[in-house]
Amino acid sequence: MTDPDPAAIAARFTSVKADVARTCRDLGRRANEVALIAVSKTHPAEAVTPVLELGHRVFGENYVQETAAKWPALRETYADVELHMIGPLQSNKAREAVALFDVIQTLDRDSLAKELGKEIKRQGRAPRLYLQINTGREPQKGGIDPSGAESFVSMVKERYDLTISGLMCIPPSQDPPSPHFAWLHQMAKRLGLAHLSMGMSADYPAAIQLGATEVRIGTAIFGSRA
Ligand SMILES: *Cc1c(COP(=O)(O)O)cnc(C)c1O
Repeated sequence: MTDPDPAAIAARFTSVKADVARTCRDLGRRANEVALIAVSKTHPAEAVTPVLELGHRVFGENYVQETAAKWPALRETYADVELHMIGPLQSNKAREAVALFDVIQTLDRDSLAKELGKEIKRQGRAPRLYLQINTGREPQKGGIDPSGAESFVSMVKERYDLTISGLMCIPPSQDPPSPHFAWLHQMAKRLGLAHLSMGMSADYPAAIQLGATEVRIGTAIFGSRA
């Protein structure tokens, strides 16, 4: 990995943040309706620090192990950090995930819901939970089939006393993303869910237009990943 360039990261972050705010204004939305999640996966603490120094506190990570190695030390200095798990989560990592994350966006199956339910009771810590939906029905991708989304939300409430508070999707890279975003927005409205996590570096303006309340942006801030 090349050494992070703190000044370049700070400049890119500032510009992305301004662009998110400008996009909101252009669309008649308030800038504080859309949270920017800075996706720092694979980037070391030295790359994250310049963004923390600018006062930003909301970050996304994909790997439990990497998060456990990187964030506890950073949190000693920046206590009010909010960490979002946005990568596929194995059920046997539920314990660590509940301990580390404030939001888990990638709940997508019964076995994981069961383990999260157990850990939330055991640890007395309740990260916000989003249901990931595989809107493009891609076999290699995480997320529940769109047809099962509604029943999953009531099932996890009944069986494990878990409250789903948002939806997340990653549209297929070869598709125009807007139909996926529009579908997810409709589903969130139907289920009465406040949080809608969609949009990445390449497509966040479209996601904001279609109702995103959180955009997950990595490359446009931290540069490309190794
Ligand atoms: C890596 C990742 C992102 C960030 O993607 P960029 O294209 O680098 O902005 C967003 N969401 C998820 C789920 C990711 O895995």
